[in-house]
Amino acid sequence: MIVTEVMHMADPNPPEIRCLYCGKTYPVGADQCPHCRAPAHHRPRARLRQFRWFVALLALLCLVLILWLPR
Ligand SMILES: [Zn+2]
Repeated sequence: MIVTEVMHMADPNPPEIRCLYCGKTYPVGADQCPHCRAPAHHRPRARLRQFRWFVALLALLCLVLILWLPR
């Protein structure tokens, strides 16, 4: 019984997130807070990875243009 309580407290991914605006908790999957209807601030990791690739390609394009365009 003690072991299960410790494991519950050490859970790195709690199933609920705290709203930034009203301070109440709600499930992670929701896209908006059910209490104040503010948009959820947790973004899916796939979108973040996609955005990182977009930034890397944009930086590469800028480097190519710096070298290619005349001064
Ligand atoms: Zn809220």
